[in-house]
Amino acid sequence: MIEFAIVGVAALAILVWVVAPMLRGARVARRSPAPPAAIDRKTTALSAIVDLEEERALGKLAPPDFETLRANYEAEALAALRELTTIAAAPQPSDEELEAEIAEMRASLACPRCGLPLGAASTCSQCDA
Ligand SMILES: [Zn+2]
Repeated sequence: MIEFAIVGVAALAILVWVVAPMLRGARVARRSPAPPAAIDRKTTALSAIVDLEEERALGKLAPPDFETLRANYEAEALAALRELTTIAAAPQPSDEELEAEIAEMRASLACPRCGLPLGAASTCSQCDA
């Protein structure tokens, strides 16, 4: 079960690693403005980071794997954020902004009463909120 989760996360990371440059290349080739897909990419990367943190907290993910995967998703989230702020002609996002976005995503996935990460569950196992 733990092995399955690790293989699944690794496979997803490899998929993102392989597909992301292709998507970037395709966009450059079309010379089109950044699509709203950047929002989806940001959301996906941020929730992946939160998932990784949960898996590490549960001991499902070895620290070196966690660091590698988190770095990948951080790069993806930052790229998407840059794309979005380029659209808005705003200053480039900083690491602080990325961390704030991660915290926001983490909060949105946590129990509103006790703060326990809910993950895929719809009700809190801690306080039944
Ligand atoms: Zn709770």
